[in-house]
Amino acid sequence: MATEIKANAIYKIIGQNCYAVPSNSSDAMYKVCFDESAANWTCTCRHGEVQSERGQAARCCHVAAVQVSIKANLPVSTDQKGLLHSASGKAFSLLK
Ligand SMILES: [Zn+2]
Repeated sequence: MATEIKANAIYKIIGQNCYAVPSNSSDAMYKVCFDESAANWTCTCRHGEVQSERGQAARCCHVAAVQVSIKANLPVSTDQKGLLHSASGKAFSLLK
Protein backbone atom coordinates (compact mmCIF):
# COMPACT_ATOMS: atom_id res chain seq x y z
CA MET A 1 0.00 0.00 0.00
CA ALA A 2 1.42 3.32 -1.04
CA THR A 3 1.80 5.95 1.59
CA GLU A 4 -0.19 9.09 1.08
CA ILE A 5 1.53 12.22 -0.03
CA LYS A 6 1.72 14.89 2.63
CA ALA A 7 1.25 17.76 0.23
CA ASN A 8 -2.38 18.36 -0.59
CA ALA A 9 -1.61 19.92 -3.97
CA ILE A 10 -1.28 18.41 -7.40
CA TYR A 11 -0.41 20.45 -10.44
CA LYS A 12 -1.90 19.61 -13.85
CA ILE A 13 0.60 20.12 -16.61
CA ILE A 14 -1.34 21.78 -19.39
CA GLY A 15 -0.97 20.24 -22.84
CA GLN A 16 0.33 16.96 -21.48
CA ASN A 17 -1.28 13.99 -19.85
CA CYS A 18 0.89 14.75 -16.85
CA TYR A 19 0.72 16.07 -13.32
CA ALA A 20 3.34 17.43 -10.97
CA VAL A 21 3.18 16.07 -7.43
CA PRO A 22 5.27 17.55 -4.62
CA SER A 23 7.70 15.25 -2.85
CA ASN A 24 7.12 14.40 0.79
CA SER A 25 10.75 14.81 1.71
CA SER A 26 11.98 17.77 -0.31
CA ASP A 27 10.90 20.70 -2.45
CA ALA A 28 11.14 18.51 -5.53
CA MET A 29 8.18 17.78 -7.75
CA TYR A 30 7.69 14.42 -9.37
CA LYS A 31 6.15 14.22 -12.81
CA VAL A 32 3.35 11.69 -13.10
CA CYS A 33 2.13 10.89 -16.62
CA PHE A 34 -0.43 8.57 -18.13
CA ASP A 35 0.98 6.85 -21.20
CA GLU A 36 -2.10 6.19 -23.29
CA SER A 37 -0.42 3.86 -25.78
CA ALA A 38 0.76 1.58 -22.99
CA ALA A 39 -2.17 2.39 -20.70
CA ASN A 40 0.44 2.76 -17.99
CA TRP A 41 1.14 5.34 -15.36
CA THR A 42 4.69 6.59 -15.04
CA CYS A 43 6.36 8.62 -12.30
CA THR A 44 9.80 10.17 -12.13
CA CYS A 45 10.38 9.18 -8.51
CA ARG A 46 12.80 6.35 -7.71
CA HIS A 47 10.02 3.88 -7.11
CA GLY A 48 8.31 4.72 -10.39
CA GLU A 49 11.52 4.49 -12.38
CA VAL A 50 12.31 1.04 -11.04
CA GLN A 51 8.87 -0.15 -12.07
CA SER A 52 9.27 1.47 -15.46
CA GLU A 53 12.53 -0.41 -16.01
CA ARG A 54 10.63 -3.60 -15.32
CA GLY A 55 7.92 -2.63 -17.77
CA GLN A 56 5.39 -2.16 -15.00
CA ALA A 57 3.03 0.69 -14.33
CA ALA A 58 4.15 2.95 -11.52
CA ARG A 59 2.20 2.34 -8.33
CA CYS A 60 3.70 4.90 -6.00
CA CYS A 61 1.96 7.40 -3.75
CA HIS A 62 2.30 10.11 -6.41
CA VAL A 63 0.35 8.14 -9.01
CA ALA A 64 -2.23 7.24 -6.38
CA ALA A 65 -2.67 10.90 -5.50
CA VAL A 66 -3.26 11.82 -9.14
CA GLN A 67 -5.77 9.01 -9.58
CA VAL A 68 -7.71 10.20 -6.55
CA SER A 69 -7.67 13.73 -7.93
CA ILE A 70 -9.05 12.57 -11.29
CA LYS A 71 -11.73 10.44 -9.68
CA ALA A 72 -12.85 13.44 -7.66
CA ASN A 73 -13.38 15.12 -11.04
CA LEU A 74 -11.76 18.35 -10.04
CA PRO A 75 -11.95 21.14 -12.61
CA VAL A 76 -9.17 21.58 -15.14
CA SER A 77 -7.85 25.05 -15.74
CA THR A 78 -6.85 26.45 -19.10
CA ASP A 79 -4.29 28.58 -17.32
CA GLN A 80 -0.94 27.85 -18.93
CA LYS A 81 0.72 27.79 -15.54
CA GLY A 82 -1.43 24.86 -14.62
CA LEU A 83 -3.89 24.10 -11.91
CA LEU A 84 -3.44 23.43 -8.27
CA HIS A 85 -5.68 20.72 -6.90
CA SER A 86 -6.14 20.64 -3.18
CA ALA A 87 -7.63 17.92 -1.06
CA SER A 88 -10.51 20.20 -0.14
CA GLY A 89 -11.48 20.53 -3.81
CA LYS A 90 -10.38 24.12 -4.07
CA ALA A 91 -8.58 24.92 -7.28
CA PHE A 92 -6.28 27.79 -7.90
CA SER A 93 -3.61 28.78 -10.35
CA LEU A 94 0.01 27.97 -9.89
CA LEU A 95 2.11 30.76 -8.51
CA LYS A 96 4.65 32.40 -10.76
ZN1 LIG B 1 6.18 8.51 -7.65
